[in-house]
This record gives sequence, C-alpha cells and structure tokens, in this order.
Amino acid sequence: MPGDHRKEVTVDTKISASSGHEAALRQANGVATASMRGHPVFILPSRKEVNYKMRLFGVSLGEGTTKVGDVLTFSLPSKITCPGASVWCLKRCYGWRYEKRRPVCLKAYHENLALTSNPQEFERIMSGVLPRITPCFRIHVSGDFHTIAYIENWIAICRAFPQTLFWSYTRSWAVPEFRDALEKLRSLPNVQLFASVDETMPLPPSNWRKAYVYSDPRAQGIACATQMRDHGSCLECGFCFRVKTGDVIFRVH
Ligand code: SF4
Repeated sequence: MPGDHRKEVTVDTKISASSGHEAALRQANGVATASMRGHPVFILPSRKEVNYKMRLFGVSLGEGTTKVGDVLTFSLPSKITCPGASVWCLKRCYGWRYEKRRPVCLKAYHENLALTSNPQEFERIMSGVLPRITPCFRIHVSGDFHTIAYIENWIAICRAFPQTLFWSYTRSWAVPEFRDALEKLRSLPNVQLFASVDETMPLPPSNWRKAYVYSDPRAQGIACATQMRDHGSCLECGFCFRVKTGDVIFRVH
C-alpha cells in the first residue's frame, strides 16, 4: 500500500468493567475478552478520512474510516445497489451524502459495481487482491448485496479467507429471493451479517442479528461503541465481528 509503514502487533486489550458497553459485550459473549487478548491484529497507520484507497486490478478497497478504524472495506454506490432499502432509509442515506462530498469515492464505488457485473471475474480478482493476513474486513460501508450472484461471490470469498472476520449490515434480507443466499453467507463461521431495520420495516427471522436505529421502539441490544465513545473504532470494539450474538443500535447520522 502506498506510503504505509505497516507493522504486525499483538493486541492485549484491557477491558474495563466500568463501561456499560463493555459489560454488555461480555454479557453477549463470555469469551469476548479472551478472544480479543492475544488476537494478532494488522495495524495500518491511523488517518482521519477514508480519502485514499488501495486500488488493485480494478478493485478499490477502502483502507479505513474514523468509524471502523484501520480496516479494509469494500463498497458499492448507495441506493442503486440497495434493493431492500425502505423509503425511510433512502431519505436518510449516510452513504449517499458521503458520496456527494467525495466524488473520487463515488467513482471508485461505480468501478467496483462494474466489476461485479462479471461475477467470475469479481470473485477471482477479490480473492487475488485481499491480503491473506487481513484480520477483519467490512463489506459495504456504502451499498448492499444487490444480486444473488454477488452474494454467492462473497460466500466464495469469505470461504477463501477463513482467518479473516467479515462483517456487514444489510437490508437485502427484506428481498425474499435473496434470503437463501444470505442465509448461506451468514452461516459461515467467519461472517457476521446483521439485518438492518428501521421502524417502517418488519423484523427479520428471530435468529438474525439485528442493527436497529434508536427511533425504532423495538430497538434492543448494545449501543454502538464508537457512537457512545466507549471505543475509538470498530477495530477496537469488535462487537459486530468478534462476537457472534447480540444486536446493535445505531444513532442516525
Ligand atoms: S458496535 Fe462496535 S463493531 Fe459494531 S459498529 Fe459499533 S463500534 Fe463498530
């Protein structure tokens, strides 16, 4: 990656019992503390914005945001790749506002989308460009699972990287014909997939992890740790990808 001085470190995260979020994290999964201790984490230099990206063989990967931390990400253009989005969501889309401010990112997301129109090629390239040592990977800071073939691509990619913890939030669970493929994706041991919901949507099947918004009267779970300032980033927190149970509640951006 350009200009990186990467180092591999072992994180010995001390979890303080004083934080409500962390207590919830423990409650949600008793092994969370142990799994964070001694977990090898590939740390990239921190940066304030997602402005520069890794571009290899036509795929643009985000190298992190202030929210997720130094985590590789893959995104698509918002709205046009979101077949399960509610009107509520389309009106408040954070990704869309982000893309408007950063045309370079929008262009990269469209190029990524173009690649996905050739599923075989997309899977081959992604499997080739992802570093084997990637500890965690966020699918979709922007965009969503828009075709069954694309979901199947991610099933193959996630299987090819069993050491990497993948996580994503999707409203495509609300598209009935996508449900089987998404069930396969979320059944992989290294994948955590949340059903995003808002108060205008029904709830997904009860065995799905859910990502609520505060305005939803049904919301339950832990408050997102970066939004609560309990942790500086998803990389530090890990609730959504190191822990396998429990719902999360987000403040609308
Ligand atoms: S709960 Fe933790 S891992 Fe999940 S989105 Fe918030 S900071 Fe990231």
